[in-house]
Amino acid sequence: MKKRILVTGGAGFIGSHLCERLLNDGNSVICLDNLFTGSKEKIFHLLDNPYFEMVRHDIILPYYAEVDEIYNLACPASPVYYQYNPIKTIKTSVEGAIHMLGLAKRVNAKILQASTSEVYGNPEVHPQPESYWGKVNPIGIRSCYDEGKRCAESLFMNYHRSHNMRIKIIRIFNTYGPRMEPDDGRVVSNFIVQALQNKDITIYGDGTQTRSFQYVDDLVEGMIRMMNSEDSFIGPVNLGNPNEFTIRELANKVVELTGSSSKITYFELPSDDPLQRKPNIDLAKEKLGGWEPKIQLEEGLKKTIEYFDELLRK
Ligand code: NAD
Ligand code: UDP
Repeated sequence: MKKRILVTGGAGFIGSHLCERLLNDGNSVICLDNLFTGSKEKIFHLLDNPYFEMVRHDIILPYYAEVDEIYNLACPASPVYYQYNPIKTIKTSVEGAIHMLGLAKRVNAKILQASTSEVYGNPEVHPQPESYWGKVNPIGIRSCYDEGKRCAESLFMNYHRSHNMRIKIIRIFNTYGPRMEPDDGRVVSNFIVQALQNKDITIYGDGTQTRSFQYVDDLVEGMIRMMNSEDSFIGPVNLGNPNEFTIRELANKVVELTGSSSKITYFELPSDDPLQRKPNIDLAKEKLGGWEPKIQLEEGLKKTIEYFDELLRK
């Protein structure tokens, strides 16, 4: 049956892939976005589809539409952009969640929150299971994002407990792929763009900090499985690729795959930058029909490099 689905942040990197997949699955999709870090280019190819609608709107203001499901993704995700206007970032996570939960309550929609591995902060437990409460600096420069997302999780749980609403919380670990912005500021896009232009690769810190990189298609599959899982399973559930790499390993891999002549350079590590991050995905495997990432780093990087190579030639 065709569902009416609202995707906030639908013109962003992950949102555009999610909108495309939901349309391909035969649904009707409203993409709501204020185009802060998103762009029309990411969804141009969907605009001809009569079941697709783009609404320019900011979720710090209420929005009403008759829908069956809501995926709440609206929020800048790159440290560069979420720190650009930190107060706005908190408002987007907190007031945005309140408005989307209010809408879901009013129209009896199921609602999924795109939370983040950042709720674990600089983790003392490794890899991170959902039961770990995290180590977040509540007053640091990343807190506008981390604490905003933590507050949104609390709001989702409280709407669920108070109003018995159908909610879903996913915690997304570092995700990359085509349609990231070249100036997004996150590590995978930065390194690929620098390598393709034979510019210096900018490692922050000594490059021994780790991340676990998930290709966007694997995430989208996990998100849809989570939305369609039984109502009693509300999460939070980790969605990420458990293969862990140091940032230096990532830099070397990108240089190798692009055949670049870039040199690796080192800069100061930003404050509160987590030293390690790797998801425990046992819960997702168990509850989401054996879900696990299929695309490993080298394959995902090749697809992403191809995308940026074409984009930068335009
Ligand atoms: P993105 O910046 O490409 O997408 C965010 C989208 O939200 C953009 O289109 C932006 O214009 C829109 N937006 C921002 N503020 C808004 C507002 N107030 N009202 C309406 N729209 C607004 O980032 P992304 O990587 O696609 O991330 C999507 C979601 O997934 C975010 O909520 C992010 O926190 C979460 N997430 C992403 C990652 C990752 O590695 N990509 C990791 C963890 C969590
Ligand atoms: N990073 C880096 N060079 C860059 C961009 C990021 O070394 O040009 C580092 C950053 O300090 C962090 C890691 O790469 O340790 C991942 O950064 P990103 O902003 O992609 O994601 P997050 O820190 O939110 O996981």
